Amino acid sequence: MSEVVHTPRVFSGIQPSGGLTLGNYLGALKRFVETQESGGIETVYCIVDMHAITVWQDPEKLTHATRELAAGFIASGIDPARSILFNQSQVPAHAQLAWIFNCVARLGWMQRMTQFKDKAGKNSENVSLGLFAYPALMAADILVYHATHVPVGEDQKQHVELTRDIAAKFNNDFGVEFFPLPEPVIEGAATRVMSLRDGTKKMSKSDPSDMSRINLTDDADTISKKIRKAKTDPEPLPETLEGLEGRPEARNLVNIYAALAELTPEQVIAEHGGQQFGTFKPALADLAVARLAPINAEMGRLMQDPAEIDRILAAGAERANEIAAPILKRSYEIVGMVGTGAA
Ligand code: ATP
Ligand code: MG
Repeated sequence: MSEVVHTPRVFSGIQPSGGLTLGNYLGALKRFVETQESGGIETVYCIVDMHAITVWQDPEKLTHATRELAAGFIASGIDPARSILFNQSQVPAHAQLAWIFNCVARLGWMQRMTQFKDKAGKNSENVSLGLFAYPALMAADILVYHATHVPVGEDQKQHVELTRDIAAKFNNDFGVEFFPLPEPVIEGAATRVMSLRDGTKKMSKSDPSDMSRINLTDDADTISKKIRKAKTDPEPLPETLEGLEGRPEARNLVNIYAALAELTPEQVIAEHGGQQFGTFKPALADLAVARLAPINAEMGRLMQDPAEIDRILAAGAERANEIAAPILKRSYEIVGMVGTGAA
């Protein structure tokens, strides 16, 4: 069989499962903007509300979080004219292809997913079926656009690898070379921003402790307070990068500084090595406020006109559907289902 060459296309998503965090910004959003700006590749960015409801969401809060996340994308620099920006539930092809992938993916593959284990904890009999099937929906999100590159944080690497397995098994089961095997793109100094309360746990918007994270909606005082109170050890910053070994909290703050300042961690250590946290933390707080305040202000401005946000998402969904519908139609044909999947 000949190798099918797929046109490069970028897809990534963020859940409206709470407010945006600094982790989402540095690990995902900021890099989505860089990809858009570098040009030459189509960029599809999705507010994945169907993923969010795999754990209970208060309906009013979900609506608010969806609009606020759209505002966060735009305030960070995503231009809805140059990128396709929409919410997942407006494009039914995601759910339709996900069902096919539920029938392609194996139970054993899903059982290995560390995000499921983390999120289900000891309660795995009582979580939703959707939380378990989450990675098959994520595979559909990506593959319904034939996306080739998926910029994500480190925590999503395993899901993108599973997406490759699902694509390969579909192609193999049906004797086609239809779906590309997408690459996770995990780059930069902050691919895994850690909780400010526990340097071994990732910063998450769904963490019960608000002190564990910086939200894009936090004001300057709150950002400074959270950084000042961030857990650290009593030692000063080391003079070399190797000195961060075994010091996850110190490493985390250095990585955050590097990503915000667009420096490497080496450069941050060269500049700040030997400093006490009493000196480094205020410098980091000032930098974080300088970077985040304009985004925060723009989000606030955009949120004053929710109808305009809804219009932007509807227009994005229309464009997304134009790409997804023919790919879904062809998937139905390959599987042998009568009809196109179109409503
Ligand atoms: P939740 O806790 O509800 O899962 P989340 O903060 O993990 O929320 P997601 O919507 O699951 O956010 O992920 C959106 C994007 O942000 C993904 O690309 C993910 O890899 C990235 N991301 C999430 N947390 C971090 C983090 N701490 N550091 C770097 N990137 C992150
Ligand atoms: Mg997550």
